[in-house]
Amino acid sequence: MIDYHLHTSRCCHAEGTVEDYYKEAKRKGLEEIGFADHFPLDLLNFTPPVRVTMEGKELPEYIEEVSQLQLKRGNPDVKLGIEVDFLPDREEKIRKQLAKYPFDYVTGSVHFMGNWDFTNPEVACEYAKLKDEEIFGLYEEYYHLIEKVIQSNLFDITGHIDVIKKFGYRPGKSIQHFLEQIADLLRAADICIELNTAGSYAPVNEFYPGIELLKLCHRKKVPVTLGSDAHRPAEVGRDIDKALSLLKSIGYREVAVFKERKRLARSIV
Ligand SMILES: [Zn+2]
Ligand SMILES: [Zn+2]
Repeated sequence: MIDYHLHTSRCCHAEGTVEDYYKEAKRKGLEEIGFADHFPLDLLNFTPPVRVTMEGKELPEYIEEVSQLQLKRGNPDVKLGIEVDFLPDREEKIRKQLAKYPFDYVTGSVHFMGNWDFTNPEVACEYAKLKDEEIFGLYEEYYHLIEKVIQSNLFDITGHIDVIKKFGYRPGKSIQHFLEQIADLLRAADICIELNTAGSYAPVNEFYPGIELLKLCHRKKVPVTLGSDAHRPAEVGRDIDKALSLLKSIGYREVAVFKERKRLARSIV
């Protein structure tokens, strides 16, 4: 069992140190974990309305803490990852920054449309004011950003790929063509997705991505990895067993793992 999406208290909206997560993962018998805390936005010259990442000066400490855990023997094996906010027009900045650090993998995620952190529970009420056409417009904008994430060639994993559904608002009109386009682009770019279990605990109450996109990804042979998006040590490995069963039922026979930004396959049969 693996979990490639763990946060820490450094991002200001999670609890626990890397050591706390490690101990919990060991207790639960996980074979491999990966820390994917948020990349410091000040290093990308972006200031969101509310701070949601560690500061640039903390990044070396985060790397050092995870590296120390990597020296420990036995399970779980520990990987150094990072979750980077995709910000259009900052691709070169992101590329230069990522080249400086010894990450095992980099997850590219979209949390912002302009300055709007649309995944923050505090903005959930804003969706209720939107007309159906406007909800569709949000999905369109979101998937357009995801296309850029995939085509940027900056990331190993595309994070929680349909998180725009988080608060349960969906357009009346079909979005099937967006999903097909995304699956084709993932295939062409040979980028991995994650099956992120946190959506089960959001109002939408389903994993990211939903089963339809997951099936499309399987058909196009898009690799998949697993993550709980834990923001508390107790959430390590949460629903990863259910996610594994789902992947197997769809036909997946392996999940992707990473070392020094090289993708490897781990059998799940
Ligand atoms: Zn995220
Ligand atoms: Zn996350």
